Amino acid sequence: MRTCVIHGDMSSDSAADQYPTVNLCDDCVADDAKQGADHQIVSKEGYDPDLGDACEWCGTTADDEAEANG
Ligand SMILES: [Zn+2]
Repeated sequence: MRTCVIHGDMSSDSAADQYPTVNLCDDCVADDAKQGADHQIVSKEGYDPDLGDACEWCGTTADDEAEANG
């Protein structure tokens, strides 16, 4: 699980909507890295549980991820 700044709603006047900070699971981070110029992640930080424990894109939780990783 990683906390990431992603490209959001560029038509919004709010920077928080243009570049929202969300939690993404490792699978989504890895998939995004394969998208080349179409990637959505602007920057990756450490995991911040204060933002919630589920992946913004696929809903995988930190617990699910820990289980999948054994
Ligand atoms: Zn995910």
